[in-house]
Amino acid sequence: MTAETPDPAARAPGPAHGGPAGGRPRVVRLARITDPFPEPVGAESAAGPASGLASARAGLEQAAAIDAVDEALVRAALEEARTAAALGEVPVGAVVARNGEILARAHNLRESTSDPTAHAEVLALREAARRVGSWRLDGLTLAVTLEPCFMCAGALVNARVDRLVFGAADPKAGAVGSLGDVVRDPRLNHRMAVRAGVLAVECGELLKAFFAARRRPS
Ligand code: ZN
Repeated sequence: MTAETPDPAARAPGPAHGGPAGGRPRVVRLARITDPFPEPVGAESAAGPASGLASARAGLEQAAAIDAVDEALVRAALEEARTAAALGEVPVGAVVARNGEILARAHNLRESTSDPTAHAEVLALREAARRVGSWRLDGLTLAVTLEPCFMCAGALVNARVDRLVFGAADPKAGAVGSLGDVVRDPRLNHRMAVRAGVLAVECGELLKAFFAARRRPS
């Protein structure tokens, strides 16, 4: 058994290594299978009317531009979250922006201020309202690293924010899809557009690392 077993084992990789020419065509065939994907693009450009294609492209470009702005906003919020972590605060950061221009930025300060309402979103909304000179923040986007809680989601509705962008979902306290959906509740007098999952991994990792470090005995 022991003498026989190594033999087939040695033979098995043998042909695979011995016949690389036999392995390569398979790779080529796989590459050919992916060929049909570029084909529809070519077919569209050949058959599609220029205007239709142009508008489709403009739509895609606009969507890509919005994606890039959303990502930049969440990156700015991540910077705030890192500042919070450095203070020993749960690392959540938020920014408020108008057309991609950041008007206010804030991070969680619950511990430092002994204030249960000092979540990043509430602080960012307060700062934005101060800058705008109104409690009404229509036309503005709030981006935050973590799915807002019920309090913050309520504050977003009350501030009449247009759009919410967030990173990681919060299955334990999130009020924008996880435990409820406060900002899109048709019974309320204001609803907003939501984009979830922007840089979700990065936002989530920051929180995980923070809690892992806190659990570690020092
Ligand atoms: Zn909150």
